Amino acid sequence: MNLKENTNLVFQQISNAVQEAGRENDSVSVIAVTKYVDVETASALVSQGVQHIGENRVDKFLDKYHALSDKNLTWHLIGTLQRRKVKEVISYVDYFHALDSLKLAQEIQKRADHKIKCFLQVNISKEESKHGFSKEELLALLPELSELDQIEYVGLMTMAPFEATSQELLEIFKETQELQKNIQEKHLPNMPMTELSMGMSRDFKEAIQCGSTFVRIGTAFFK
Ligand SMILES: *Cc1c(COP(=O)(O)O)cnc(C)c1O
Repeated sequence: MNLKENTNLVFQQISNAVQEAGRENDSVSVIAVTKYVDVETASALVSQGVQHIGENRVDKFLDKYHALSDKNLTWHLIGTLQRRKVKEVISYVDYFHALDSLKLAQEIQKRADHKIKCFLQVNISKEESKHGFSKEELLALLPELSELDQIEYVGLMTMAPFEATSQELLEIFKETQELQKNIQEKHLPNMPMTELSMGMSRDFKEAIQCGSTFVRIGTAFFK
């Protein structure tokens, strides 16, 4: 594993994808997903210029956060969060990417000591194994969600099936983008809905074509 080479390559490939999509240079933020590596490796990655760190589990999030808290990073919790764990982690989180139920939103409302930026996770591909709201479910819940003023609903997050073809990826990401725009136009309280969290190591290119503003990249940094 050569972190320096991998990091340069990831940033280069993302920059190419942004250009090919005809978008502004700085319109996509790269979150380095450090769940595969220890604190030392994550720290070495930060020395390479990474500014956004993502973890999918609360315990690993807190380990990295406490070890690297002096480095002025932006912290993303990207994985499923159990309600009973909200209390111990939520106030350290800059962006939470996996808000997938009204009950979880209510728990965040109760526990957060400041307004937390959250992505609503949607299950556009309708895979059984994936978390997230269906489109219909989410649209029905918007009035109740938008009343929770300790949450800033910055955008939507989605994950595509592992085996999806490039064409299928484009369809899933496009549909997510359309839903984001639809919600944005409602101008609900606490719901700017300007962002899209989509794209991982194997599908960031398609996600960037469909307007992603945060890509979550793990494997490509650490192979
Ligand atoms: C692990 C993970 C990623 C990163 O996936 P890679 O394929 O390793 O780039 C992105 N998002 C979530 C929610 C993850 O759990």
